[in-house]
Amino acid sequence: MDWTDAGLAVAAPQTTEHFDVLIVGAGISGVGGAYHLTLQRPGTSFVVLEALDGFGGTWRTHRYPGVRSDSDLYTFGYRFKPWRTAPIATAAEILSYMGEVVDENGLAAHIRYRHQITRASWSSSDNLWTIDATRTDIGEAVRFTTNFLWMCQGYYRHEQGYTPDWLGMDSFKGRIVHPQTWPDDLEYRDRRVVVIGSGATAATLVPAIAEDCAHVTLLQRSPTFFRTGRNAIEIADELRALEIDEGWIHEIVRKKILYEQSVFTSRAFTEPEMVKQELLAGVRGLLGPDYDVEKDFTPSYLPWRQRIAFIPDGDLLQSIRTGRASVVTDVIERFEETGIRLKSGKLLEADIIVTATGFNLSVLGDIAFSIDGAPLVFSETVTYRGMMFTGVPNLAWVFGYFRASWTLRADLVADFVCRLLKHMEDKGARRVVPTLRPEDRDMPLRPWIDPENFNPGYLMRGLSLLPKAGDKPEWRHTQDYWTEKDALPAIDLDDPAFVYG
Ligand SMILES: Cc1cc2nc3c(=O)[nH]c(=O)nc-3n(C[C@H](O)[C@H](O)[C@H](O)COP(=O)(O)OP(=O)(O)OC[C@H]3O[C@@H](n4cnc5c(N)ncnc54)[C@H](O)[C@@H]3O)c2cc1C
Repeated sequence: MDWTDAGLAVAAPQTTEHFDVLIVGAGISGVGGAYHLTLQRPGTSFVVLEALDGFGGTWRTHRYPGVRSDSDLYTFGYRFKPWRTAPIATAAEILSYMGEVVDENGLAAHIRYRHQITRASWSSSDNLWTIDATRTDIGEAVRFTTNFLWMCQGYYRHEQGYTPDWLGMDSFKGRIVHPQTWPDDLEYRDRRVVVIGSGATAATLVPAIAEDCAHVTLLQRSPTFFRTGRNAIEIADELRALEIDEGWIHEIVRKKILYEQSVFTSRAFTEPEMVKQELLAGVRGLLGPDYDVEKDFTPSYLPWRQRIAFIPDGDLLQSIRTGRASVVTDVIERFEETGIRLKSGKLLEADIIVTATGFNLSVLGDIAFSIDGAPLVFSETVTYRGMMFTGVPNLAWVFGYFRASWTLRADLVADFVCRLLKHMEDKGARRVVPTLRPEDRDMPLRPWIDPENFNPGYLMRGLSLLPKAGDKPEWRHTQDYWTEKDALPAIDLDDPAFVYG
């Protein structure tokens, strides 16, 4: 029960607790932040507030059959905690890994679940954030103050996924479900299921249910690039057979994967046609020469303009090949009682329709922010390296990479935050505000991301809500791990872009 949604009166908070640092969210970023703070800033008092009833974020919310990572866990895992098994992992395996991090480092005592933060107000006279939250279990208002706010709220609204408004949806007699809110009681055995979407979620879900369903159709408006391969990393298996220390294996495999990814990413821009043909050859190899790969698996965009999902052991393609699943590339005209009418005139009959159509962007955890009483209009700020924002004091934000694992950046941002906190302590500063320097004032401002460079639907739909970027590395989220791994640790905290008080 969400007490705020239910419109129940929430009594004013009785007490206020104070912490040096307050982390929003106990997903992979927030738990990582808590770990780094414990290790790098011992003695700092901190609390992690989490709306859900446990840690994990994405991996707790998503419960559809087959839910798994789409990048490898050697890099999606933390740099400090070795990953010991196959690179593509299920949500359950990721939760168990995160559970070990929580247990081994005594983090549980710092995390408060079922705390939905609704308001964050900065006061310059006190140099403090006041955080208002609702205890969703008992409907009680609680208040905290903190010197530093560490936003690890992810990028999408957890309560509800994005479903477009199609004509006639009400007339469909079967069930319509979104993978983000997968009903526990959904019986799909021997049913005809249509999964709308072409991203990683659709690609994961289809093979996971194909064996049980009467038939599964993946319905897409346009195709996506996929990479296929074994869900194994040979060098990791070899080193493990030699009983090499797991910490070493983790480090070596991370380095190898990151190196290969950097080569792949740069090739996607320097020789996109060749990369495209390689990706298509992988698909063709599993579907056979008679399959119309051009129609169903050849996107109109160039490789890497959207995330490329990895299909472990080609499972999606195997289920298409065996006839348990099929792909239809067409446009939805409307929903009808028995299925989906397509632009081509064909009716796709279905008992269940799954809308794997993406996320609702949530920029700052749907929290009402204000600074000295004035509402914060986030889209009017300029980002400092995708981590802080002009005019917003004592706040860091974790927004990971699109083309590399999110956690690589969560670890880097954590190092930056811990260094900044130490710097403030050394200087005796109570406030740090990113500020455009004189030489930045006439800088042309751009959208948060360049739509030509990366353009998934949830970001395009929400671009107007996101902060602006500039044309210098300081004022951009470059999306480039290989530059940032050296640039972020080298940031000069006495640069005039940081104004201390
Ligand atoms: C199915 C799926 C697979 C994915 N696979 C990969 C992958 O393989 N590799 C990769 O790099 N990325 C992947 N991603 C992207 C993934 O979401 C991120 O990489 C990562 O999990 C984000 O972690 P996070 O902790 O930053 O955010 P989240 O996992 O979104 O966690 C944020 C937490 O903050 C809490 N929160 C938000 N607002 C509030 C509030 N107002 N009050 C209190 N709590 C709040 C939320 O409840 C949530 O628990 C995947 C995403 C999905 C959906």
